[in-house]
Amino acid sequence: MTAPITIAYTCPKCGAGQAILPPKIEAAGMVQCAQCDRQHGRLHEVQKELANKAREEGSQKMQQIYRNRPTGKNRSF
Ligand SMILES: [Zn+2]
Repeated sequence: MTAPITIAYTCPKCGAGQAILPPKIEAAGMVQCAQCDRQHGRLHEVQKELANKAREEGSQKMQQIYRNRPTGKNRSF
């Protein structure tokens, strides 16, 4: 027996931050919550969702950087 491989995925049901990958990379393998065993979906679907989320968070960070960028007009010195 090998230890289950977990990924960072927040469960919408119980809020656990870890999900267990299917034991083998299979098309039918389901990613499950490590805590309540909720099935999040197939591996490629979960990966796509995580990639979309990362892209959203990345663009939000970029917007913050642009917003916080000093313009040179409001400097106190
Ligand atoms: Zn859960």
